[in-house]
Amino acid sequence: MTSDEFRKNAHAAVDWVADYLENIEQHPVKSQVKPGDIKKQLPEKAPDSSEAFADLMQDLNDIILPGITHWQHPHFHAYFPANSSYPSLIAEILTAGIGAQCMVWETSPAAAELEEQMMEWLKDLMSLPNAWHGVIHDTASTATLTAILTAREQVSKYVINKQGFDGQKLRVYCSAETHSSIEKGAKIAGIGSENVVKIATDEALAMRPDALLAAIEKDLANGLIPCCVVAALGTTGTLAFDPLSAVGQICQKHNVWLHVDAAYAGSAMILPELDWLREGLTFADSYVFNPHKWLLTNFDCSVYFVRDKEALIRTFEILPEYLKTSTRGQVNDYRDWGIQLGRRFRALKLWFVMRTYGKEGLRNILRQHLEFTEQIRQKLERSQHFEILAPPKLNVLVFRYIASSKNPKTVDQTNQQIIEKINASGEAFLSHTRVNGAFAIRLVLGQTHLSERHVEKVWSLLTAHIPE
Ligand SMILES: *Cc1c(COP(=O)(O)O)cnc(C)c1O
Repeated sequence: MTSDEFRKNAHAAVDWVADYLENIEQHPVKSQVKPGDIKKQLPEKAPDSSEAFADLMQDLNDIILPGITHWQHPHFHAYFPANSSYPSLIAEILTAGIGAQCMVWETSPAAAELEEQMMEWLKDLMSLPNAWHGVIHDTASTATLTAILTAREQVSKYVINKQGFDGQKLRVYCSAETHSSIEKGAKIAGIGSENVVKIATDEALAMRPDALLAAIEKDLANGLIPCCVVAALGTTGTLAFDPLSAVGQICQKHNVWLHVDAAYAGSAMILPELDWLREGLTFADSYVFNPHKWLLTNFDCSVYFVRDKEALIRTFEILPEYLKTSTRGQVNDYRDWGIQLGRRFRALKLWFVMRTYGKEGLRNILRQHLEFTEQIRQKLERSQHFEILAPPKLNVLVFRYIASSKNPKTVDQTNQQIIEKINASGEAFLSHTRVNGAFAIRLVLGQTHLSERHVEKVWSLLTAHIPE
């Protein structure tokens, strides 16, 4: 492809994206294909010679699009959103065009310094502790692994990095409701999933500090080494919030690293009125949230803050001759701040998003989502057909249809069928969770282009799909 052809084709591709997003509601939200449907349409081998761009775009429409679940559809209410926005998409094109590897400051000073400054902007925008230092990772899973590794090194006085494990049994604590990435991180860090201690939760599905304290004290008495507590601000199932101040005081007393996973709910800290979100945050040794979920910055972009950046760098730093630079120490070489060496220039999209919307523009979108959620919450409360199963937090509602049967299995099945029917209709996509064992419908109202009309529609879909 020549540069002239690139110009023409890339313009066509941008038009394709604009058309796609404008007309996204014509697609079923959840892809309706069956396993193997897409692969069987693809040739077994790469073509021997060049194929035309027009043929590629044709196959994109005919083969690929039916196999896409449309995450940017306003009726995507499943899991958590992975929102994009126009400024973010433009920055992503520019990032790919620049194509820089942002390993160290010298491999692109602007990328390093923009990243540093965007972390400062976020701290200001969200009133986060000023002493924190930030870095962008790909995902929260990576950030949490980074935290667990740093905690492991701090507690072992940086010995495990050098000599490996020597029979020490390190322990990681989190509630039974926390994300699977904590167990995965403990596995990768060599700590082992059996050393992840699942702490009991209270009726709001938040970690019980008394149970955490008891678990730590019991481990200490048995010669085990408390390494890291992962507290969730907004669990994935029901958006439960662990009590940070109480948990933080326990961590401080026993000198245990406190990592805070706010992957989804963290974006809501842009709202000054939600001060309760920040309660106890100063106890955190590290913290992660994903702008790629609810802050209009397309996947991937996960922001990791750490209080003691020396502990982080000491854990990950490696200095081969070919990466020695004369600017070391004066600048941030982000390859020492995490797992990857090569890094994408992700700060650019945060810059484009924050400048295009401004603080108030971003806040207004999230406030709208919270207002829409409140509307549906009131409808759920007033309806004799539904019951709310977990305390509503931010823009996540967890509820179920009140079935006439007293058999819990039948009640679960009835609720599962409601979701399946809605998802098969293609009109909306909802997912589920379990609350104390009970199947629950989970509705998230957080897509970038969600509007009043969608809120009315999702309510009519719910009521239309309950049993007669
Ligand atoms: C989404 C989520 C994660 C995982 O995020 P990735 O960026 O996909 O790794 C972790 N924790 C919580 C609470 C989440 O909601």
